Amino acid sequence: MDNKEELIKELIRSGILRSKKVIDAMLKVPRELFVPEELRKYAYLDTPLPIGYGQTISAPHMVALMTEALDPDRGDRILEVGTGSGYQAAILAEIVGPEGHVYTVEIIKELVEFARTNLMRAGYLDRVTIIHGDGSLGYEEAAPYDKIIVTAAAPRIPQPLIDQLKPGGRLVIPVGDFHIQYLTIVSKEVDGRVRYETSIPCIFVPLVGKYGVRASSGLT
Ligand code: SAH
Repeated sequence: MDNKEELIKELIRSGILRSKKVIDAMLKVPRELFVPEELRKYAYLDTPLPIGYGQTISAPHMVALMTEALDPDRGDRILEVGTGSGYQAAILAEIVGPEGHVYTVEIIKELVEFARTNLMRAGYLDRVTIIHGDGSLGYEEAAPYDKIIVTAAAPRIPQPLIDQLKPGGRLVIPVGDFHIQYLTIVSKEVDGRVRYETSIPCIFVPLVGKYGVRASSGLT
C-alpha cells in the first residue's frame, strides 16, 4: 500500500495533478478505505475498481483531473452527484476544510451505507452529508453551491444543477452517450451568463434518474 506516493508522483509527472491543495488531499485520503476489503491491495493502481451494484470507484487520475477542473477552495459548499464509495467526497471534504461542506447524493441505497461507513472510518463524516435520492435533480435543500461535480455520465446537462449553482460557480460533468463522454466545465458568470467548455474524453457509468439516461431514452 506504500505505492500511494509513487502513484501521486506519476500523476504529477504526467501533468494531471498540478495544484498543491489537490496533491495534498490525494496524499492524505486513504483510498484503501474506500474499496472493498479484498481489493485493498489494488487501491493505489491507477484504475477504477468495482464497488458492487454494477458501480465503480473512479480511477485516481480521473479523480485528480476532475478535482483540478472543479478547483475547489477552502470554505466552499460543494454538491457531488454520484457518491459511490465516498472517495471523491472525502477528497473534496479535505480541501474545503472544517469551514466548508460537501453534500453528496447517491441513488443506490446500499452504496449510501457503504459510503457512510467509509467516510466515517476516514474521519470525514462531520464535513459530508450523504443524501439518498436522485441527484439529477440536484439537492435543492442546501442550494446554492459554489461548485458542483457529477461523477456519472449525463446525456445532457441537467438544468436543476445549473440553477443550483451560485453566480461565479462552476460545474464539472461528463456529458455524452453510453460509449464515450466529454468532461464538460460549466461556469456561471457573476452576471448569471453560463459558459461551456469541453475537455477530455472519458468513460463513466450512466447517470440515471429524471434528467439522466432514462429521460433521454424516453423510458421515464
Ligand atoms: N464518485 C464516486 C464514483 C461514482 S460511480 C467515488 O468516488 O467512488 C457513479 C455513482 O453515481 C454510482 O454509485 C451510481 O449509483 C450513482 N448514480 C447514478 N445516477 C445517479 C443519480 N441520478 N443520482 C445519484 N447518484 C447516481
